[in-house]
Amino acid sequence: MNNLPIKVEKEIAKVSEIAEYLWEREWAERNAGNISINLTQHFKGEKLSNPDKEIAFDFPKEAAGLVIFVTGTGCHLRHLRNRIEEVACIIAINDQANSYSIVWGGTKENFRPTSELISHVKIHLFNAENKPSHKTIVHTHPIELIVMSHHELFQDEEKFNYALWKMCPEIRVFVPKGVDCTAYALSGTEALADVTIEGLKNRDVVLWEKHGALATGENAEIAFDYLDVANKGAKLLLTAWNAGFEPVGLTDEELKELETFI
Ligand SMILES: [Zn+2]
Repeated sequence: MNNLPIKVEKEIAKVSEIAEYLWEREWAERNAGNISINLTQHFKGEKLSNPDKEIAFDFPKEAAGLVIFVTGTGCHLRHLRNRIEEVACIIAINDQANSYSIVWGGTKENFRPTSELISHVKIHLFNAENKPSHKTIVHTHPIELIVMSHHELFQDEEKFNYALWKMCPEIRVFVPKGVDCTAYALSGTEALADVTIEGLKNRDVVLWEKHGALATGENAEIAFDYLDVANKGAKLLLTAWNAGFEPVGLTDEELKELETFI
């Protein structure tokens, strides 16, 4: 496919912009992180999958017909800034949900979609049912949130969120459902996909213990914003501890008052 719909081009341009932020934040070392977008709505009625180029893959049967933008395995996220067609692609899943074909991008030699493809597809299926406006998934390695996943607070999700929210008003308002503290699971496994979906049922951000974080949103920027604001809470907390004091924090009344902005 040579010409993408304008709306799809805009979504992809936003991915390039967000990849730049992730790189500058040092949240995307080497091949860390992956981004995907459910683009199915933009290709309704089009026959995209190419039987000559199909690659076998065992998707859930509900994934039949999905069209997904996704970054490549082993690809460096920083390359999404200037050579996105090489290191990311659009896949079309066939009607039997047992293979996909790459219909745009992925021009890098030996390109394959992220090894987290099954997680991304399962989360898109979950969102299609439960948060249909959330078309984009961003997974990255936010430094301060990862550090906090090594802290004992991580073992008590309520206390963990309270510790972040009390640091400044924006965190209470813009990450209103908070962070899910997800126990360690190996990358690329369906087990990680399943605990992530559990986390997304009640929270805005899923923090994978000793690994990284994931959020979904209407586009790449909105998904990034959840991660950025949550990480600000972790950074402020660590900065206070680093300076040798326990932060006073917003009071319960002040936090309650902020709920009117959620
Ligand atoms: Zn990761």
